[in-house]
Amino acid sequence: MTTISANLQAIKDRIASACDAAGRPAGDVRLLAVSKTFGAAAVHEAVAAGQRLFGENYVQEGIDKMQELHASTAGVPLEWHCIGPIQSNKTRLVATHFDWVHTIDRLKTAQRLSDQRPGDAPPLQVCIQVNVDQGANKSGVAPDELPELAQAVAKLPHLCLRGLMSIPEPTEDPQEQRALFRRVRQLFDQLNATGLCLDTLSMGMSDDLEAAVAEGSTLVRVGRAIFGHRPRKDTLTSSAQGLA
Ligand SMILES: *Cc1c(COP(=O)(O)O)cnc(C)c1O
Repeated sequence: MTTISANLQAIKDRIASACDAAGRPAGDVRLLAVSKTFGAAAVHEAVAAGQRLFGENYVQEGIDKMQELHASTAGVPLEWHCIGPIQSNKTRLVATHFDWVHTIDRLKTAQRLSDQRPGDAPPLQVCIQVNVDQGANKSGVAPDELPELAQAVAKLPHLCLRGLMSIPEPTEDPQEQRALFRRVRQLFDQLNATGLCLDTLSMGMSDDLEAAVAEGSTLVRVGRAIFGHRPRKDTLTSSAQGLA
């Protein structure tokens, strides 16, 4: 077994135990492998180990990787998720190449993605990013602005609103960590109570996936625990890519 396939197995075991502890079926939680800063070779190893969902933060880097992997993964149904902030000048690339976007936090971005989604593609699957620990300087819509944004995004013709994504600040206190994830879950439940049909809660990463699964996560986004430590983006060279 390669390191990546062993790491993937270890993460699946962690997800299964967390589900078990929460009384949830193991199939409830999907694993998104966050491959940002790692090269196509690393993604390829994960694909060979059976991984199908990949998350990228930097739009052009993600597209380059998709293209590099295109021939060798022909026929394998990979799903590419954009999980980084989206600048207006990148929406067309995102709408053209990705299957999912987790980081909707303004209607304008959502409208552009809907307008620019190619006509022959299925709707772009999207989550709204919500900022539950207000005050922290981060992206995401404030909870009190969420209902209005969600209703508007749900109406866009070439998007399918699937749920919420959140990146709460890491805290030392596991109870506090769970409380932040619980807040996202409550917002999700409230939206569903108003008639939306959301099925995706994108929360939990390498260090806090247990707390997220305990509070209802359906999609964990895991990078370092699969691919290893990330080289710093600004020192990244093409020769360093792919070496975990
Ligand atoms: C990098 C990143 C992850 C993965 O984080 P790890 O700590 O490496 O598991 C998850 N979600 C987002 C939005 C990220 O940018």
